[in-house]
Amino acid sequence: MKPCALMLILDGVGDRPLKQFGGLTPLEAAFKPNLDRLASEGITGLMDPISPGIRVGTDVGHLALFGYNPLRTYWGRGPIEAEGVYFTLQEGDVAFRANFATVDSKGIIVSRRAGRIREGTSDLAAALDGMRLSDGTVAIFKPATEHRAVLVLRGSRLSPLVTDSDPGPLAEGTNVLPIKSRVPGAPAPERTASLAEEFTRRAREILLSHPVNVERQKKGLPPANYILLRGAGTKKHIRPLTERFKIKAACVVAESTIIGIARMAGFTILTSPRFTANLDTDVEGKMKMAADALKEYDLVVLHYKGTDIASHDADAKQKKEFIERVDSALGNLLDKTKTLNLYIAVTSDHSTPVSVREHSADPVPVILWGPDVRVDNVVKYGERACAAGGLRRITANGFLLTLLDYLDVTYRFGS
Ligand SMILES: [Zn+2]
Repeated sequence: MKPCALMLILDGVGDRPLKQFGGLTPLEAAFKPNLDRLASEGITGLMDPISPGIRVGTDVGHLALFGYNPLRTYWGRGPIEAEGVYFTLQEGDVAFRANFATVDSKGIIVSRRAGRIREGTSDLAAALDGMRLSDGTVAIFKPATEHRAVLVLRGSRLSPLVTDSDPGPLAEGTNVLPIKSRVPGAPAPERTASLAEEFTRRAREILLSHPVNVERQKKGLPPANYILLRGAGTKKHIRPLTERFKIKAACVVAESTIIGIARMAGFTILTSPRFTANLDTDVEGKMKMAADALKEYDLVVLHYKGTDIASHDADAKQKKEFIERVDSALGNLLDKTKTLNLYIAVTSDHSTPVSVREHSADPVPVILWGPDVRVDNVVKYGERACAAGGLRRITANGFLLTLLDYLDVTYRFGS
């Protein structure tokens, strides 16, 4: 029977030892008999998204897991987010990743994600979409998952060579940054920076009095009164993974960033309104959709975001419980797929230690399970257990290629 593969991605699952778990990580402390079974029956290791010591974002981590070399192909978060909301960039467009944020009257960021706003963002985005800037450039603004959104500047002589207004992770309590040209004096970047600043200023005026925000403030919620911008980039074509290896692939996912990368890689997107890219997602429903897809596709990528969300919120207990929910759902998938010639890869895009509340360069534990893998002596899925695994220390590109090699779709180097 033709082999197929599931790649299970637990976003930000890697962690560091915690006192509250008696020196275990959330993954080590979790009750996860199915993941442990895969580790015990498979080959394990530690994976660096790119190489040791390189801390990556979710976008770069996933580009690497989808087989791309981000050092060569990364062109900014903006175009990925645009792809993620099914928006087609034109030549000359400059796309930014945007965050709805809460900023006080002094320009200080109170909440970088407007309290992880989930409702009303379509209305807020609609109020900004189509804004005509002073030189005729049009600002196209589309909502993405939760606090995420996309700004596209469409006009003439624009450049992606501009800085971010978003100071980045742990920005709360600091000032919004001015958007500047990365090439001081160069006309196109200077123009683009001043247009992005104009958009930001006018967007703030509109957002401050928007009914969605008035309502949020009544409820004591942080208003989404500012648009933070980062990751400017332009349209770029990358060769789909599905074309390179002649495979049929699908991605079960809710987060727009991963949708963008998976779409560029040639994957069919399988999603549902019940999939939230958060802790309250339909864990079981996603696993079921993946199990069904394995009957039709050579490769199915299944992405869970909850582990990363809990880490950013410094909630170790939630992280552990989310892992346990995924494990329990995985048990059902294993039952349902017994008749398939199935390989399973378990991995992550980066570590997000609860103690750091941010991504770190700690390598992530991985498993490769299947009928004929070289089983090692590791019997548990965990950061320290997998350090003794047979895959040793592998890169994300190497991990994907190893999985694809079991599917017999890779090509021979040399004659
Ligand atoms: Zn991530």
